[in-house]
Amino acid sequence: SDALVLEGLEKGYNHGRPSQVQVLRGASLSVAAGEVVALVAPSGAGKSTLLHIAGLLDTPDAGQVMLGGRAMTGLGDRAMTEARRGEVGFIYQFHHLLPEFTALENVVIPQLANGVDKAAAEARAMSLLDRVGVAGRAQHRPAAMSGGEQQRVAFCRALANEPRLLLADEPTGNLDPGTSDQVFGALMELVRATGMGALIATHNMELAARMDRVVRLEAGRVV
Ligand code: ADP
Ligand code: ADP
Repeated sequence: SDALVLEGLEKGYNHGRPSQVQVLRGASLSVAAGEVVALVAPSGAGKSTLLHIAGLLDTPDAGQVMLGGRAMTGLGDRAMTEARRGEVGFIYQFHHLLPEFTALENVVIPQLANGVDKAAAEARAMSLLDRVGVAGRAQHRPAAMSGGEQQRVAFCRALANEPRLLLADEPTGNLDPGTSDQVFGALMELVRATGMGALIATHNMELAARMDRVVRLEAGRVV
């Protein structure tokens, strides 16, 4: 089944009347379970808008969002937050780890918030950290880790609650090219091992070419 279906999304912003900026104009896209799709777009094309709508952080003016086969349009705020926590993992260009907590705690906390007991959460966190090669950093805080290590921990956090869909915005964009390549490899292994669907925005065409399919956001539509 499909991890994500976007159908005919419309989204505009009002920068003070009467000028309305129409960002999405009938954008449609689906991501199958286990499929990794690269989203390529020039700056300002509406990539963040599309990712926010797909991740239930924002609502479209028109169109349909389906996660794991379930229609999300018209849900209330509470149901949207719940669906987001259960179904979607986010990764950003900058890791946004909690600075006062260790790597392990950063991966454990979202699981506790999701009702997982502490022992199980720690075991899963260690296994994730191990799979991306940072188990040795489990007791370190983010400030004591390299940028690549921090980002690997952020991947583990995003996958901690076994989301069906991973959304990533330039996940290795702040790393130097060599590190970016390795860290991206770790992310792909993790995604492949879970069978989740992933939509990964990037400007890096070499990374895009390593994904299953490349789509482009152009004039408010996905082509
Ligand atoms: P990208 O991520 O591709 O750079 P965005 O989705 O961030 O593009 O933005 C697309 C357009 O929508 C831009 O013109 C931006 O100024 C506008 N925009 C984005 N978010 C908002 C907002 N919250 N309020 C008003 N305009 C916005
Ligand atoms: P929490 O469980 O901490 O309350 P939420 O349920 O609000 O988190 O959000 C779930 C995910 O959405 C988190 O990965 C968080 O980083 C992301 N998120 C929440 N709000 C925003 C936002 N305004 N912009 C970008 N990402 C957000």
